[in-house]
Amino acid sequence: MRLTIVGCSGSFPGPDSPASCYLFEAEGFRLVVDLGNGALGALQRHIGLHEVDAICLSHLHADHCLDLCSYHVVRTYSPGGPFPRIPVYAPADAPRRLNRAYGMPDEPTLESAFDFHALTPDRRQIGPFEVTTALMNHPVETYGFRISYGGRSVAYSGDTGECAELVRLARDADVLLCEASFLDLPDLTPDLHLNGRQAAEHAAKAGADRLVLTHLVPWYDHDRILSEAATAGFTGRLELARSGAVYDLG
Ligand SMILES: [Zn+2]
Ligand SMILES: [Zn+2]
Repeated sequence: MRLTIVGCSGSFPGPDSPASCYLFEAEGFRLVVDLGNGALGALQRHIGLHEVDAICLSHLHADHCLDLCSYHVVRTYSPGGPFPRIPVYAPADAPRRLNRAYGMPDEPTLESAFDFHALTPDRRQIGPFEVTTALMNHPVETYGFRISYGGRSVAYSGDTGECAELVRLARDADVLLCEASFLDLPDLTPDLHLNGRQAAEHAAKAGADRLVLTHLVPWYDHDRILSEAATAGFTGRLELARSGAVYDLG
């Protein structure tokens, strides 16, 4: 499978990356995980506008879901459209929330382009991928994902504070895409986000092979986040996420 980091900017788009968006490809199937603000633009560098087969949304904060509104325009109104509905796996409130964000009338709704499925902590097949979901530690209903294909696995934290479920989800993963929003400062708000050190501690406990620090907030020094992660006892490969980075797994 191939993982492409489309967007890795935390909380809002940065100068070099849109907000959260990750593209998983296997057997010609294209699964987009999170579609934060700005992501639809950068996604077009990697695949055609209509080539998305399924979408997963970790949670309904704007920096993870808002470009689904824009993608409705693409699926509905672009030449040759409307295009077939595609599945969107998201927290149960997604249709109501995103219809309001778009400013849709009662009919037609975003459901004309998207077949919404409410996420729960479970395991399901999405195209060729086995996708395991677990609840993370964030102020709203938020899911982490473990996406597996051909004996390889990528775990993605979504947004989370310290979280034992994330360690379970990332057990022996080839790649842990873990948020590292904060600097390692005293008196951090608990149950919201991780810093680099905490991300590396989760990766070490999980035994992940490679840690990619993501959800990098533009107002912080990302090299400092990386160096703080390097002190946490994680011995695998460690790096910062970068928009456009491609990981070929297996
Ligand atoms: Zn976020
Ligand atoms: Zn969030």
